[in-house]
Amino acid sequence: MWTLDDTIAAISSPPGQSRRTIVRLSGPDAIAIACGLFAPDAAESLSEVGAFRCASGRVTLEDGLLAPGSAYVFRAPRSYTRQDLVELHLPGSNPLATATLGAALERGARQANAGEFTARAFLTGRIDLSAAEAVADIIAAGSDSQLRSAQRAAGGELQRRCATAATTLTETLALVEASIDMAEEGITLAEPADLATTLRGAASALSDLAASATDMPDASHLPRVVLAGRPNAGKSSILNCLLGRARTLVSDLAGTTRDVVCEVADLDGAKIALLDAAGFLTGDIGCDLDLAAHQAALAAVAEADLILHVLDATTGDDSLLEALRETNPASPILTVCNKSDLATLTIDALMVSAETGEGLDALKIEIRNALAISPAATGEALGLHRRQKHCLVEAVDAVALAAGLLDTADHAADVAELVGVDLREALRHLGQISGEVVTDDLLGIIFSRFCVGK
Ligand code: GDP
Repeated sequence: MWTLDDTIAAISSPPGQSRRTIVRLSGPDAIAIACGLFAPDAAESLSEVGAFRCASGRVTLEDGLLAPGSAYVFRAPRSYTRQDLVELHLPGSNPLATATLGAALERGARQANAGEFTARAFLTGRIDLSAAEAVADIIAAGSDSQLRSAQRAAGGELQRRCATAATTLTETLALVEASIDMAEEGITLAEPADLATTLRGAASALSDLAASATDMPDASHLPRVVLAGRPNAGKSSILNCLLGRARTLVSDLAGTTRDVVCEVADLDGAKIALLDAAGFLTGDIGCDLDLAAHQAALAAVAEADLILHVLDATTGDDSLLEALRETNPASPILTVCNKSDLATLTIDALMVSAETGEGLDALKIEIRNALAISPAATGEALGLHRRQKHCLVEAVDAVALAAGLLDTADHAADVAELVGVDLREALRHLGQISGEVVTDDLLGIIFSRFCVGK
């Protein structure tokens, strides 16, 4: 699936208007192909331009199109991909960038897949997988704190902390395995209790890392939170409050919202997909439009990770609850009673008012708790993807098992084989974060989060 021996090309600047657009090439023929597209002012050809240089000149395309620009030449291995890499920086014209890319493809380059430049950086050992993933996180960062956590991971912090633990595990594994041979000669290499203490130190460093990290959202799946309730309970008003803007129409007229509205809401740095399933009906379904709205709402409730069941404090009507549970028995339901400013009844639910803002901060916390997602740290926490956190937790569990075995042994050799299995398991999990142990499928999933050109 991943090859390194051809030359890839893509437009690597974002779509839309900008002052410059960038066409990027990487691979063995990158410089040769760029030579045919770009004429430098101060040299005969781009191939004469040294490594790490920028040459100004002109892009010259076969149909006579000419444009001023610059070529940045990076020669292997001193480039992002550790291959020959050229970036052509052109005036901000999308047709010009498309024509330049087309000319590069005609000259033998292959259109790069999503994330393929970063995949090459990973495959050539320039960066580890955690840093590669962080590149996509930097691009997708939705908040300042996400950007900072992603930058720290891109700088290699996650890799360094995992590598420190992996070194301890590898050294302990070597001692434990050597103890088998030494035991025959009556030599004790290390006391099992000391080895267990060393392992516990490594496990606690890894579990601290997992516990202190914030959740880095996987762009492919934000947790889906659906607002469901009787017409006029205030679902649209709550949606607008959580979004911090008026996304949907709020009206006294029941049935104003019929389609399912879906927006990304930022709950103090924790992102969710927030849906307003207004058309969820339980009584008679009048017309075709009602039926279509009801089916869309049913699907939204069925696929939700969390259902916010919105009650109206003036009626306290919670008769929808059973239907919601039937539609989605797997996901938690959080009952929220809106219009607390008008409440005359005592209702056992989280009281909020979309009108006055009462209870909305508590609602955000309840949503985050129900989904087990943490807010973005204001400090310097690292952000981890669910997959990475899972690997850390599995590694910690395996190390704890090994330490437990050593605790019960008089000699390390007595439990060496079992300890070896657990420590190898822990190292395998850590290797899935750094990318040392990784399948093509997993790489495919990770790099599909990127855009083309990155
Ligand atoms: P939906 O049909 O459930 O989406 O309800 P809307 O959000 O459209 O609200 C219905 C009506 O209730 C509108 O007139 C809102 O202004 C009003 N409303 C919504 N939330 C509150 C609230 O917390 N307090 C008061 N007093 N009125 C509210």
